[in-house]
Amino acid sequence: MQVDPRLCTGCGRCISVCAAGAIRLERGDGERRAVVDPDLCVECGVCLRLGICAAKALVPTALQWPRTLRSIFSDPLTEFQETQVTGRGTEEMKTNDVTGRFSFGEVGLAIDVGRPNATTRLADVQRVTQALAAAGAVFEEDNPVTHLMQDRSRGLIRPDVLNERVMSVVVEAKIPLARLGEALRALRVAAEQVDTVFCVGVISRVAADGRIEASSELERLGVTPLGRAKVNLGLGRPQQIAPGEGGCGP
Ligand code: SF4
Ligand code: SF4
Repeated sequence: MQVDPRLCTGCGRCISVCAAGAIRLERGDGERRAVVDPDLCVECGVCLRLGICAAKALVPTALQWPRTLRSIFSDPLTEFQETQVTGRGTEEMKTNDVTGRFSFGEVGLAIDVGRPNATTRLADVQRVTQALAAAGAVFEEDNPVTHLMQDRSRGLIRPDVLNERVMSVVVEAKIPLARLGEALRALRVAAEQVDTVFCVGVISRVAADGRIEASSELERLGVTPLGRAKVNLGLGRPQQIAPGEGGCGP
């Protein structure tokens, strides 16, 4: 995003709507004008879409690779061409009843890196993916972050995009339940290294008797899970269920 200095009146109304803290007022030739810091702007488009500028001084930037990634991960209306998925992650990560991605004995991990106001560089996302890869995680094929990796076995993202700043991303992976503790320990180390915030979602199937394998394992690891069920009624398709196994995961 840019500001047309010929149109800007310096009213300052756009500053508070920017969740990336990218807009500031500068004084030049005795007049106050808004300026967008191109390094901080994540190209979310919010300032423009809100119609906050009566002077119509906010002007979208023509984006070139790799800056296009800022918009892909920050503007929900932008489509990532390689996955055809609008948004930060795949649509079905939390609906195992539809996808059947996770079997018993393994868990899904959905890690939200960055938030409005915090934002994140992709270099910090890489610290998270490296931690997961070291613990044996397999990254979700259709996730935009996975598409940016040059070495999935090590969680390495291509170097030419690492400086891009985005509102947030979702890293999606699955891992054997037996290695969940290893993954959480690696993520704790990564949390000390990143200049942003992230939260960890653990996705587990539910057995017929209501037992949730991941919950007991998390408690054993000293983590109190905040249980949240998510079932898409009517959207599920039959899964192959072994005798004695029950329904599908939240
Ligand atoms: S809202 Fe428009 S006129 Fe006001 S400071 Fe921002 S860009 Fe300038
Ligand atoms: S596009 Fe988003 S990040 Fe960039 S200046 Fe506008 S609100 Fe801020």
